[in-house]
Amino acid sequence: MYTPSAGERSAATSPLKGELLHAVERDELVLHYHPIVDLREGKVSSLEALMRWKHPSRGMIPPSEFIPIAEETRHIVRMGSWALTRACADAKKWPDEIKVSVNLSAVQIECCDIYDVVMKALEKTGLPPDRLQLEITETVLMRDHEQTQAVLKKLHSLGVTITLDDFGTCFATLNYLRSFPFKKIKLDRSFVRDIPEQHDCLAIVKSVGDLARELNMRSVAEGVETAASLAAVHAAGYDEAQGFYFSPPVPNRAVERAMNQCKQRMAVLNTPATSW
Ligand code: C2E
Ligand code: CA
Ligand code: CA
Repeated sequence: MYTPSAGERSAATSPLKGELLHAVERDELVLHYHPIVDLREGKVSSLEALMRWKHPSRGMIPPSEFIPIAEETRHIVRMGSWALTRACADAKKWPDEIKVSVNLSAVQIECCDIYDVVMKALEKTGLPPDRLQLEITETVLMRDHEQTQAVLKKLHSLGVTITLDDFGTCFATLNYLRSFPFKKIKLDRSFVRDIPEQHDCLAIVKSVGDLARELNMRSVAEGVETAASLAAVHAAGYDEAQGFYFSPPVPNRAVERAMNQCKQRMAVLNTPATSW
């Protein structure tokens, strides 16, 4: 049974609805970047672009409040294209080995030629396709299986990494894993947050890590908030991890400092657990 989230319920009546249209034009949207750490290499492999709305009177508005409205009104098409181009332009200035991850909404794939949007962003910024990762959730796949599959395959063949985001929160996941060219699975933070206290979460974390390995996909654990959960996802063989333990999402100007902090936080894996 489908239950709308608080954000979706408020979308229809939100006073933000009318203002959102002008947010791109008025240059009120900003991207913050959240590091993703390669657990084998011990350093940042990519940064995920997360949208924020710098509202003139309400201050910084988180995406949970305005993305549902943007999807309902389809403004997300324009906002998403902006985010993609901005993220590629920022990434072009980072070291070559650092990739950028951009979230794609189901509405963007449905309402526009996303292949064309991605190509234009890459051409305009000069970012090589293999430095771009696109994160999609299962809702993208649930809408129009065949068309989406064709677009994702085209992007995949260009060298763009397609990541399945929020893994474990929807239906029919295992079926999608067979039919789409995912390179990475990102386990939802709700499972990672409660380890090591919750035995069932740890069991799921371990099983998804094994599943990714068997399918030749990379695994990413999201929502790592403590040294103990980092140790657990590391022990479960995850390739990458992301979360507030390493760093919060930061503005582009603070990316270098955040990357150094992530490296330092990795040191905990080499110290005995009793000293955490
Ligand atoms: P998401 O793609 O699952 O992004 C991860 C969210 O989890 C981010 O919240 C991030 O700050 C948060 N997070 C990561 N690690 C931790 C942790 O250790 N602890 C806690 N408590 N939280 C953590 P944020 O930035 O509020 O984004 C929320 C959602 O908004 C995103 O979820 C994504 O679905 C959507 N979103 C953000 N930017 C964009 C965008 O440019 N386009 C689209 N279509 N959606 C976006
Ligand atoms: Ca994401
Ligand atoms: Ca996620």
